[in-house]
Amino acid sequence: MPEAEPRAILVVEDEASIRRGLCDVLAYHGYVPEPVERGDEGLRRALAGDHALILLDIMLPGLSGFEVCRQLREVRPQLPILMLTARGSEDDVLEGFRAGSDDYVTKPFSLAELLARIEALLRRSDAGAPEPVETPFAFGAWQVDPATLAARQGDRETELTRRECDLLRLLAGEPGRIVGRRRLLRELWGFEEPERVETRTVDMHIARLRKKLDAPGNGLIETVRGEGYRLIS
Ligand code: CA
Repeated sequence: MPEAEPRAILVVEDEASIRRGLCDVLAYHGYVPEPVERGDEGLRRALAGDHALILLDIMLPGLSGFEVCRQLREVRPQLPILMLTARGSEDDVLEGFRAGSDDYVTKPFSLAELLARIEALLRRSDAGAPEPVETPFAFGAWQVDPATLAARQGDRETELTRRECDLLRLLAGEPGRIVGRRRLLRELWGFEEPERVETRTVDMHIARLRKKLDAPGNGLIETVRGEGYRLIS
């Protein structure tokens, strides 16, 4: 089999030592890193280039990472975007998801973790978008329409992201059964060995969904400690 084309990764990070460190590690692992210091320049290059993935810091000169992400998403909906967030800032993580990021790593991150995230995102984007299932389904009292990414209950309506919609469908498909975090990470996020990955991505998505569906606590989506989640049927 011919050797795969090396993949370009845009690294948008204003802190020189982190930027250099990231580029060294990526180059060492066979990627072609392209360092950028400013947010506006990052957006320009991402729009002009043909990158396999974007590593994106949040606090950047020129344009914030959130804004870069938002603008990039409008034009390149499939491009994997991995946000670099500061430790303990869940708000940043949630804002990143809102802006359309696929995943995040918390600084300071371990290289193994960073590479695992990058590989998972690339695997998912290589596999291409799965055949969209457009059939509406019920989630508790909510009617979810994957075609429009809307959830409705009576005259209330809330907008979902594709990932949230997929998450609801997976839980809705197995009402009353525990769906493990690892399975969610494998099936929805594309991690091959989720047991080796330390992440709160799933939990944060669930927290957002509870807010959107106005189902606080364990009212609709139950947390099964140390296991995963289930839809209360
Ligand atoms: Ca920064």
